[in-house]
Amino acid sequence: MYKDISKYVQDRSVTLVAVSKTKPVSEIQPLYDQGQRIFGENRVQEVVEKYDDLPKDVEWHLIGHLQKNKVKYIAPFIAMIHSVDGIDLLKTIQKESLKNNRTIPVLLQFYIAEEDTKFGLDIQEANEIIDNYIEGQFSNVKIVGVMGMASFTDNIDQVRQEFKSLKVIFEELKKRYFNTDDSFKTISMGMSGDYKIAIEEGSNMVRIGSAIFGSRN
Ligand SMILES: *Cc1c(COP(=O)(O)O)cnc(C)c1O
Repeated sequence: MYKDISKYVQDRSVTLVAVSKTKPVSEIQPLYDQGQRIFGENRVQEVVEKYDDLPKDVEWHLIGHLQKNKVKYIAPFIAMIHSVDGIDLLKTIQKESLKNNRTIPVLLQFYIAEEDTKFGLDIQEANEIIDNYIEGQFSNVKIVGVMGMASFTDNIDQVRQEFKSLKVIFEELKKRYFNTDDSFKTISMGMSGDYKIAIEEGSNMVRIGSAIFGSRN
């Protein structure tokens, strides 16, 4: 399954984040041995443990909701944070990243689903954050794109619509703030059940767990 997916996303110039949450190192290592380097986790403690146990050239992506008081544990090594949903979190990432003499790439997480359980920003909140980001002291954090999750539903049209809306948001932000910034280019959308639709709608980074590793308990 991994080979199928990695070939599929390679052909379309899409970055594959293999979501290894809840899976032990013994199941991650074989994928690493096949060449996969980017892995996604949604819990801080888990990613810290796995960072210790796996080769240091793994690029760890934090994809789940992040509390400010936990940023310090991942700041020394995290390769990307997908889940920035507030200016305070961005400020904390800046502070911890500076302490580690690093620059951390981040995505703004948008609320595109109909479900009310999901975290994320709307466009107005994002504009406020980016205004702040552009005027402020954010030398050690870089906004490189957007992330979103579609509703968990069998309604393909709805999922497609939600992905389209994230693409529109990305284009608006690109035009308004990042027109001359080539590093603002990532659209992280698509999971096991909907990544093909996401890619059709412009995703260039998919986060796939169960379709690679099997279902989680
Ligand atoms: C768990 C998770 C995924 C992967 O989900 P699958 O359906 O197993 O592919 C992707 N993104 C986020 C934010 C997740 O928490």
